[in-house]
Amino acid sequence: MAIKYQLETIPVWDGIQSSSECFICDLMQEAQADNLRFFLGSSVMNPETRVKVNSTGFCPEHTAMLVESGHPNSMAVLWETHLERTRERIAKTFKEMEKPGNLKKTLAGLDAALSEREQGCLICQRMKDRLDRYCFTIPYLWGQDLEFRKVFEKSKGFCLHHMEHILRMSLEALDSKKQKEFSQSLADLQMRNLDRIAGDLVYMIEHYKSENRDKPWNGCEDAQVRAVYKEIGKGRTIR
Ligand SMILES: [Zn+2]
Ligand SMILES: [Zn+2]
Repeated sequence: MAIKYQLETIPVWDGIQSSSECFICDLMQEAQADNLRFFLGSSVMNPETRVKVNSTGFCPEHTAMLVESGHPNSMAVLWETHLERTRERIAKTFKEMEKPGNLKKTLAGLDAALSEREQGCLICQRMKDRLDRYCFTIPYLWGQDLEFRKVFEKSKGFCLHHMEHILRMSLEALDSKKQKEFSQSLADLQMRNLDRIAGDLVYMIEHYKSENRDKPWNGCEDAQVRAVYKEIGKGRTIR
């Protein structure tokens, strides 16, 4: 089978051995931080980047992260032409608002112009490319390397959000016989780890009862946080 994605062997091997609740979450948080740095770094001066920022832009969530990340000068440069383009697109709306006719139509036009401006996201796109490569590499290595398979089975598994993507990528990374074996192994791994987390939640709830206050936490003091992120994941792309 031809390899459709560039393999990310080193980060995936490091991740699977990290005893994280989902190492894809960790890698995606890193990817987000890298991309925020990229768009506020020297790339701001690159004409090609500026053109992409003006046409595709960023989703509202990543725009907020960019402006909050403490690089006022870069952000000003990045946003100057973005704002200019946006104003060009809504110029017609302002004319209509000044001489109101059919305001429902004006509103629809404004809505379309603003949502079009927020539709794409360069950061989400670049994160998605990395996510595909990581989630392809997992089933690929599982199919090639027995040592990886052993470590995979002993790991804490993945959040449900990323589990879905890993299963999706396994259809591209493995032949149909191995796809089925991988699916079984992934289900087994995930169910075992969800049982563990469910048990931790129960322990936490019991621990909050007054009669159990003096008992040890047994590592369950953050069970609610782990349970939430095991379900929804971290470092998710938004668009
Ligand atoms: Zn995850
Ligand atoms: Zn985004």
